[in-house]
Amino acid sequence: MKSSSTPEAPRKRSAHDRAGVTESMEDYLECIFDLENSKGYACVSDVAEALRLNRASTSIMVKRLGKLGFLRYEPYRGFALTPEGCRVAEKIRKRHAMLADLFQLMGLAHRDHLSDIEGIEHHLSDRAFRRFAELAEHLRTHPLPRSSR
Ligand code: MN
Repeated sequence: MKSSSTPEAPRKRSAHDRAGVTESMEDYLECIFDLENSKGYACVSDVAEALRLNRASTSIMVKRLGKLGFLRYEPYRGFALTPEGCRVAEKIRKRHAMLADLFQLMGLAHRDHLSDIEGIEHHLSDRAFRRFAELAEHLRTHPLPRSSR
């Protein structure tokens, strides 16, 4: 057994990782998107509260997202998504909505499966997403028989 290799924390990559976007970055962008829609901008304490994370790690992530060009600072207010940040956030939002729909149509209350949905939303390729969406449409007109349990 090799013991010399340095243990490296596995980084959870999303399906669209080309730009180095991790699953957790996508969740941050999604959250900032929601905050922006409800109050026009986001700040570190709002994001930390919404994601139930501490302010220090939230602030580090916000800086990183800024450097990557996903958000820009609004003096005295907080920050807002750039068009690129918006694009990623909307993509995840769309996946989340479609999966919630699909779960519901499969007889799985989406509220009881939030952690499944929160995970899967990051791992669908565009092609799988389109197919899943088609499946949801199909199930809407051809409902599955009720599960016996
Ligand atoms: Mn998620």
